[in-house]
Amino acid sequence: MSEAAERVEAVRGRIRAAAQRAGRDPDEVTLVAVAKTHPPEAVQAVVAAGVRDVGENRTEELAAKQPRVTDVRWHHVGRLQTRAANEVVGRDVLLHGVDRRKLVDRIERLAAGLGVVQRVLVQVNVGDDPAKGGCDLSEVEDLVTYAAAQQHVDVEGLMTVPPLPEEGSDPNAAARPHFATLRELRDRLGLHHLSMGMSADLEAAVEEGATLVRVGTDIFGPRGPGPWTGPPGPLA
Ligand SMILES: *Cc1c(COP(=O)(O)O)cnc(C)c1O
Repeated sequence: MSEAAERVEAVRGRIRAAAQRAGRDPDEVTLVAVAKTHPPEAVQAVVAAGVRDVGENRTEELAAKQPRVTDVRWHHVGRLQTRAANEVVGRDVLLHGVDRRKLVDRIERLAAGLGVVQRVLVQVNVGDDPAKGGCDLSEVEDLVTYAAAQQHVDVEGLMTVPPLPEEGSDPNAAARPHFATLRELRDRLGLHHLSMGMSADLEAAVEEGATLVRVGTDIFGPRGPGPWTGPPGPLA
């Protein structure tokens, strides 16, 4: 087995075990391999190992890799600058980092212009962490309602990045209450997706109901020195 295939299998095993503990079907959980800094060849290796969903946190990196890695579903994870929305809308990408009306407005205008419907998740700052993106807990319902009312925006669920755990503490235990909060919100709002869980805390995320886990390091190894660059592919 290739090293990439071994890493993917190890992560899938963790997802299966966590799903089993929670009485969930592991097929309800999609593994999004977060490829930031890694070259297209590394992404192709995990695709050969069966991964079908790839995430990037920079619009330019996503645009550059998209034409070089085929047969995958693309995800933009994390913060999205309003002025960079034009680099991803129209690329058939699920946007995980929609957290303000101004960004929704921009996405709606761009999607309408291209004649597409843009799929989004509303990012929530469940831990009220100033270092993280996401709207406040008190704003979620309003933002979901606002986005859902747009003709060219489809709200598929919620996403969160919990605060970094304190030194020496268990990341799963630290993240779990935040994941539980996001699930309650998702249920109350009647949405489908829950994007939560990364390399260090995917067990708690799956046990608390994640439908999308975003795993970088444990799939690709340590991150490279900076973003991978290349010319962008055309908009869809
Ligand atoms: C980088 C990143 C991940 C993956 O993080 P790892 O700890 O490397 O698994 C997940 N979500 C977002 C928003 C990221 O930026």
